Amino acid sequence: MEALIGFGIIAVVISVPLFFLFKGLARLARKVEGMGQKMFCPSCGFVGPSKKIIPGSMGTGLVLWLLMLIPGMIYSLWRLAAAYSGCPTCKGKGLIPADSPMARKFLETPKQTA
Ligand SMILES: [Zn+2]
Repeated sequence: MEALIGFGIIAVVISVPLFFLFKGLARLARKVEGMGQKMFCPSCGFVGPSKKIIPGSMGTGLVLWLLMLIPGMIYSLWRLAAAYSGCPTCKGKGLIPADSPMARKFLETPKQTA
C-alpha cells in the first residue's frame, strides 16, 4: 500500500512538469509558424528568413538534467519560453517583414558615406 502511494506521488511529480513541457513545445511550434517569410533586420540590415534562436545551450541543460532533475527541467522550460524568431546574423529580435513599408524605407534609403 505504501509503495503504491509512493508510486502515485512519483507519477504526479513526473507528469505535471511533463505537461508544462509539452505546453511549452506547443507554444514554440506556434512561434515558429511565421518562419520562412522574408524578414528584414533593422539592426544589421539582414534580409532573409528569420531563424529560431533558443537561448542557453543544450549541454548546460543536459548537465543540469543529469545532476538534478528539477533545475534541468526549469532550465529547459526557460529555454523554450525564451525562444524567438530572430536575425541569423546578429540575433536581433526586432525583425520586420521585408515587404513592409518600414523595411522598404530602410532598404531604399541610400547609405550615407560622408
Ligand atoms: Zn540582424
